Amino acid sequence: MADADNPGTASEPPERTDGPSWTQCRPDCIAPRGRQAHCPVDHLTFTTVANFDRHRRHGRCLDPATIGMTTNERGLWLTPATDEDRERMGRAR
Ligand SMILES: [Zn+2]
Ligand SMILES: [Zn+2]
Repeated sequence: MADADNPGTASEPPERTDGPSWTQCRPDCIAPRGRQAHCPVDHLTFTTVANFDRHRRHGRCLDPATIGMTTNERGLWLTPATDEDRERMGRAR
């Protein structure tokens, strides 16, 4: 009975409109897991968020193939040139 009257702070949380809308994904989209990232614009999946950022320029998407990226056997885009990615792939196995 102590908390009979609440302070009138009935501020509702604002609705979040940002973020990808997964309902618009295609059936052949590769669902990202863990630290992977999926682009809601061109529906490509990247092995890391860093690789996702790499194909974004000035708020637009680049074709990953034109910036030296390639896909692995699962169809995920990655940057083969960096040792960081190589080590990560090696550890994943
Ligand atoms: Zn998609
Ligand atoms: Zn994209």
